[in-house]
Amino acid sequence: MMARTKSDVAPMLAKIVSDLPNGEDRSGQGAMADAVARAITTGRHLAVRAGTGTGKSLGYLVPAALSGKRVVIATATKALQDQLASKDLPLIQGRIGSRLSFAVLKGRSNYLCAQRIKEVATAGMQGELGRGEGDEESVGEDGAPFDQRRGAQARLVLAWAGETSTGDCAELSFEPDARVWNAFSVSAEECPGAYRCPSGGVCFAEAARERAGRADLIVVNMHLLGADLASEGSLLPEYDVLVLDEAHAFEDVASVSLGVSLSGGKLRSLAAAGRQALSTSRARANSAARSSAAEAVDAMVEAARLFDEHLSSRGQGRVPTPIDTDSAAMIDLIRQRVEHLEENLRNLADDRSAVVLDGPSDAQRAVRALAMSGRIRDVLDVLARLDDDSVAWIQGRDRLSLDVAPIDVAAVLSEVLFERRCVILTSATLPVGLAVRLGASPENVDELDVGSPFDYEHHALLYCAAHLPDRRHPDAEKALIEELGVLIEAAGGRTLALFTSLAVMDRAAQALRDVVSYPILLQGQGGKTALLEAFGTEPKSCLFATMGFWQGVDVPGPTLSLVVIDRIPFPRPDDPLLSARRDRIGASAFRAIDLPRAATLLAQGAGRLVRGPEDKGVVAVLDSRLASASYRFELIRALPPMRRTDDRAEACAFLEELRATHEASD
Ligand code: SF4
Repeated sequence: MMARTKSDVAPMLAKIVSDLPNGEDRSGQGAMADAVARAITTGRHLAVRAGTGTGKSLGYLVPAALSGKRVVIATATKALQDQLASKDLPLIQGRIGSRLSFAVLKGRSNYLCAQRIKEVATAGMQGELGRGEGDEESVGEDGAPFDQRRGAQARLVLAWAGETSTGDCAELSFEPDARVWNAFSVSAEECPGAYRCPSGGVCFAEAARERAGRADLIVVNMHLLGADLASEGSLLPEYDVLVLDEAHAFEDVASVSLGVSLSGGKLRSLAAAGRQALSTSRARANSAARSSAAEAVDAMVEAARLFDEHLSSRGQGRVPTPIDTDSAAMIDLIRQRVEHLEENLRNLADDRSAVVLDGPSDAQRAVRALAMSGRIRDVLDVLARLDDDSVAWIQGRDRLSLDVAPIDVAAVLSEVLFERRCVILTSATLPVGLAVRLGASPENVDELDVGSPFDYEHHALLYCAAHLPDRRHPDAEKALIEELGVLIEAAGGRTLALFTSLAVMDRAAQALRDVVSYPILLQGQGGKTALLEAFGTEPKSCLFATMGFWQGVDVPGPTLSLVVIDRIPFPRPDDPLLSARRDRIGASAFRAIDLPRAATLLAQGAGRLVRGPEDKGVVAVLDSRLASASYRFELIRALPPMRRTDDRAEACAFLEELRATHEASD
C-alpha cells in the first residue's frame, strides 16, 4: 500500500480507537504510535515499554499499517497472535480498507501436508494409519497403534482436508491427537522443499508463505522468526521492519533457535522414516538390497539406544567444549550410521520403478527421510566443531538431549537482524537495555517508557514481608506459609499465589487447605485453561501455581485482589546457558544477567494483579531481600508504580477493605 506520512498516524489511531467499545484516547498509546512511526521512517531501532492497558498493539500496528513497508510482527504467545489476527488487524483494515493486507504465517507442521494426504488417500486409511505395533510413523514414539478414537479423528481430518483452503490446523473444529496430526503433516526437518516434492504445487504451507509474501503485515510467532534468522531468511518473505511484541521472551527463543539439539528420539524418528520408506519397496527389492536396508534401519535404532546411554552416563548439565574423545567417537558412529541409511534411501529416491509402480509415494518417503538425515548431519557437524563460543549441555527428564547454543546471541543477532532492518521491541515488562543485549548498537537505539493508564498509585499496594527469615533458615518455609494464610484470609480468597518451586507450592497447598476458609486450586490438578476458568468463575477461590502462570494470566475484576510471590525469581545458578554467559562476563554477571532476568519475571508476576482500570489489590512478595538487598531498587523500578509498604497490618487493612466492597456487591 501507499506510504502515508507520520502526521497521518495520530488521526487514524484516533478513528480506530473510536471504533472500539469504550475506546478512549490514551496518551501513552499516542506517544508510542508516534515513536514507532518515527523509527520506521528513520530506520533507528526502538524499545518501548508500554504498561498494561496502553493498547500497545494498536500503538505499533497503526504506524506499521500506514508505513508502506512490509512489517513482520513476532509474538511469544498464541493468545497475542490470535488477538492481532482476529481483532486488531481486521479493525485497522476496516478503517484503511483493502489497500492493507495482512497474513498469519506459522511453522510448517501447523499445516496439512498435501503429499501425506495423497499418500493416505492412495494407500487407504488402513494401509497408512491402521498399522499395529512397530510401525513408528503412524504410531509415534511410544509404539502404540492407532486406536478407535484416533482412527475416527483421522477420518475427520481426511474429510476436512478435502474442504479446507488453508490446511491450517487451527481451523479444525477439534484439537486432534498429536499422533493423528503428525500422520497428516510434516515437520520442517522432514519436508524436502516444494521443488523436490511432487505436491509442492498444491502445498498448504507454501501457499501460506506465498500469501505472506503478498501481505503488508505478517504475523508470526517468535520460534518461526528464530528459525528464519537461523536459516538466513529461508522461511519468511523479505521484509523491512520487525516488531517484536512480548520482546522480553525473545532472548531465550533466539538462544534455542540459533542452537541445535540432538536426542535418541530424533535418531529413532529418522529410523522410523527410513523404515517406512524402505519397507514399502520390499516387494520390488532384491534380497540383498532388502537385507541392506533393514540392517541400515536397525543400525540407526541401535545408534539411538547407544546415544541415549551415552547421555545418561554423562547426566544432565554442561558438557565441556570442545567435546571429549568419547563423545566425539559417539558422534562419529552416529554419522556413519546416518550415511549408511542415506545410501539405501538414495537408491529408493532415485528408483524410477517406484514412481511407475506405486505413484510417487515410495520415492517421496525416501526423499523426506533424506531431508531429515541431512538436517541431522548438519547437527552432527555443529557438534563435531564445538568451540568456546558455544555452550553444550545435556537436559531432559525421561528423554535426554544434547543441546548447543551460542554463548553470545547478540553477536549473531547483530549481524542477521539489527544490521539489516529496523527493529521495534515492545512489552509491558521490557527490561532496560534489552535491545543492546540482543545485539543492537547502543547509538542506534531509542528507548521509551510510556507507562500505564491505570492508577497504580491508588489502586495497588506492593507489600514486602520484610520480617520473614532468610529462606535458608530452617523455619523460613513455615513462616512463609503462615504469612500466606494470613493474607488469603484478609483478601477473602481471591488470591493468585505464584511459587518458584513446585515442591513448596505443594507443601503450602497441603498446609493451608485445612487452615484457610477458601478453596485452593492447584496447578497440575487440571489443565491451565480449565484452572483459570475455575478461578475466574469462583471469586473466593485461590490459585496456587508456578512458572507457567507468571505470564499470560489475565483475570480482571474482583476475582483477583492478591498476587503473592514466594521469592524473587532469580534464575537457577546451574542453568547451563546462563552459567556459560556468567563465566564469560565475570564479576559483573549478577547485574548483567541474573538481576535483569529476575526483574522481568517479577514484573510479569506482579503484572497479573491490575488488568483493568477498576482493578485494585496487593502484590505481596514474601522475600525480605526486596526490602533489604542492595539491588532492591533495580527490581522495584521494573514493577508498576505501586505504593509500597513492609507493614503487614497495612496490607491486610487494604485487602479487608477490598474484600468488604467485593462481598457487598457479590
Ligand atoms: S512441500 Fe511437500 S512434503 Fe513439504 S509440506 Fe508441502 S506437500 Fe508436504
